Amino acid sequence: MKSISSWGRLSQEMHHVTPLNDRNKVRDSIRHKNNHGLGLAHGMGRSYGDIALNPNGTLWLTTGLNHLIDFDVHSGLLRCEAGVLLRDIQRLFIPKGWALPVTPGSQLVTVGGAIANDVHGKNHHLLGTFGDHIQSLKLARTDGTELECGPTHNPEWFFATVGGLGLTGFIVAAEIQLRPISGPWLDTETIPYSNLSEFFELADSSENDWEHTVSWIDCMSNKGQGIFMRANSNQELEDAPKMKAEKKMPFVPPISLVNTLTLRPFNFVYYNLKKYKAGSGITHYEPFFYPLDKLLEWNRMYGPKGFFQYQSVIPRNVGQDATQAMLREIEKSGEGSFLAVLKTFGNREPLGLLSFPEPGVTLALDFPNHQSSTHKLLARLDAIVKEAKGRIYPAKDARMPRELFEAGYPKLNEFLKYRDAGISSSLSRRLLGS
Ligand SMILES: Cc1cc2nc3c(=O)[nH]c(=O)nc-3n(C[C@H](O)[C@H](O)[C@H](O)COP(=O)(O)OP(=O)(O)OC[C@H]3O[C@@H](n4cnc5c(N)ncnc54)[C@H](O)[C@@H]3O)c2cc1C
Repeated sequence: MKSISSWGRLSQEMHHVTPLNDRNKVRDSIRHKNNHGLGLAHGMGRSYGDIALNPNGTLWLTTGLNHLIDFDVHSGLLRCEAGVLLRDIQRLFIPKGWALPVTPGSQLVTVGGAIANDVHGKNHHLLGTFGDHIQSLKLARTDGTELECGPTHNPEWFFATVGGLGLTGFIVAAEIQLRPISGPWLDTETIPYSNLSEFFELADSSENDWEHTVSWIDCMSNKGQGIFMRANSNQELEDAPKMKAEKKMPFVPPISLVNTLTLRPFNFVYYNLKKYKAGSGITHYEPFFYPLDKLLEWNRMYGPKGFFQYQSVIPRNVGQDATQAMLREIEKSGEGSFLAVLKTFGNREPLGLLSFPEPGVTLALDFPNHQSSTHKLLARLDAIVKEAKGRIYPAKDARMPRELFEAGYPKLNEFLKYRDAGISSSLSRRLLGS
């Protein structure tokens, strides 16, 4: 038994932990009779809430399944095991002219985790989600069966498993279509905006000409000021710089370092520093795509009580009003979030039955856990999301009410047909009842 917590560090609970290292033995290892209670795959544990937790049950650790199986140098099709890290794919293949088409804001996640949450990056408007680039995957079920599925073969299993919260079976391996890339550099622009209307104008006008767009919004000022960043691949520079080693948050402070005393000055300084440095530049892909990976275990900064991440997507027609309403609630509450991310998703329907991204605007916020006052604020944000017919991202969630999940994910009943009866998580028990 081992104590495991998720990225938000809201709980520390005991799990029966089974590391998996041999893809040919997965089918046997995950069979119900070989486990303590129900099981669940666990990748890098980079999900913030309880989606990768299964206290008192079994966790199948996937990071030992870290082999590349096959690569076609002509087409860029990569087959690999599900515990391979996105960072390892990027660092190995970018110098060879191939990159992952879609990556989230941390590359310290596994291929299996990226599929199970159908993660998105800063280029959703152009290339959709991670699942859009999976040609095929191998799924093992706890009843001892195995199947290969993809968008054209066994598609019903594929669309249930992509974004399927790890509940349809164990992803053993996947085929990912990499895309050709000229090098590791990006042409970037950093543009300050002073309110939400300016943000939406920038987002709209960047959609056609910029591959990557994202913004940071200062939610301690309810005006909606922020910094908009956009980037395209640089076609000329080839050499990669020597990357500095990551630093690590060395200890868990007794109280959260993110608090009312530090938030306002931090956000003020960050905004003004970025504003001062606004303009064009050339940036390596790692600091642009994965700025937080530079400080390993930065989540410890929030102290022993941990923190909540809250990520919603709101349909575009009410996106500005609902975002403004959320900012007002946050300001009123005094809870404040540091490093809030605001970006638009492109006009694409969700890929998997439970994939999160849908057309609209998405806001991601981190709140230190102040228990009941934080819960009250999050409930007020829920009401705004519900009224706007939006949805919450399960990969980040530890507390959304079941009725909000049901309202946000209309294909839930169809999804339930594909659940594996031998798999369960804290999130599935909370939101699905088992
Ligand atoms: C700093 C940071 C930035 C982030 N930015 C983004 C972002 O921009 N966009 C975004 O979409 N997400 C983002 N995330 C969230 C992160 O990408 C997802 O939570 C991702 O799923 C984590 O992968 P993991 O390997 O850690 O999986 P875990 O968190 O360990 O597991 C996640 C889910 O995947 C399932 N799973 C894992 N492996 C398998 C397998 N082999 N078979 C079946 N199911 C499996 C688990 O059961 C669980 O349900 C970010 C996270 C962090 C910490």
